[in-house]
Amino acid sequence: MTKKFIGAHVSAAGGVENAPLNAAEIGATAFALFTKNQRQWKAKPLTQESIEKFKANCEAKGFSPSHILPHDSYLINLGHPETAGIEKSRAAFLDEMQRCEQLGLKLLNFHPGSHLNKISEEECLKRIAESINIALAQTKDVIAVIENTAGQGSNVGYRFEHLAQIIEWVDDKSRVGVCIDTCHGWAAGYDFLSDQGYEDTWEQFDKIVGFEMLKGIHLNDAKKERGSKVDRHASLGEGYLKETTFSRMMKDSRFDNIPIILETPQPELWPKEIEWLKQQSVL
Ligand SMILES: [Zn+2]
Ligand SMILES: [Zn+2]
Repeated sequence: MTKKFIGAHVSAAGGVENAPLNAAEIGATAFALFTKNQRQWKAKPLTQESIEKFKANCEAKGFSPSHILPHDSYLINLGHPETAGIEKSRAAFLDEMQRCEQLGLKLLNFHPGSHLNKISEEECLKRIAESINIALAQTKDVIAVIENTAGQGSNVGYRFEHLAQIIEWVDDKSRVGVCIDTCHGWAAGYDFLSDQGYEDTWEQFDKIVGFEMLKGIHLNDAKKERGSKVDRHASLGEGYLKETTFSRMMKDSRFDNIPIILETPQPELWPKEIEWLKQQSVL
């Protein structure tokens, strides 16, 4: 019995209830989605009909909430240096959390934030933790899942230490976790590829953040070289991380029972990529 739950960030066009159907279509056992248009601040509330259908479709296709990893809007910056900007982001993030609650989901994945060259990284991390505290205080079940970044522009979250620092400042540790994106980690300078690099990087992760905090993986190959700080995803085997990295991860029990999500750039390859990953996990 496989313990790997593998899928992709699928479309929710036409309504969130379509996401589990789209995921089942590509042979996925996990999936990610946006619960609203990711490029707009405002969204209509989810209708009762849409919520019921989403839950029914998840059940019919065998997706459990612990293997569904919704992603928030790209506009949100929980570490925004200015009052108006952070207030807008915090309100939008709360709305995202509440949408997850309505859908019966347990996780919400987000990029930590950017200092926009106006405050220090530390101050930005502090603001992010405070933003998380504010959202958790107004919701009940959903876990805030912080994603590591490539360190592009003024984004924080490109070191495991950043993730650990945010967690340290979050009051309710039972409702915070992390998602590691392999492309982002590679671009930020982490070596997942060589034998020694793989061992060392994940050992560092365990020491600094801890595998018990790992709630999901974004499985992406990387178009740019290690340490480039440039975030360009590639399809599996078509970038620097090569098939080796992903095959190794599929055989590694530390990635059992969490959603493993492809954000690779060629959706037409997803069925093949998922099938290949499943094979690696049992070989
Ligand atoms: Zn990602
Ligand atoms: Zn990315």
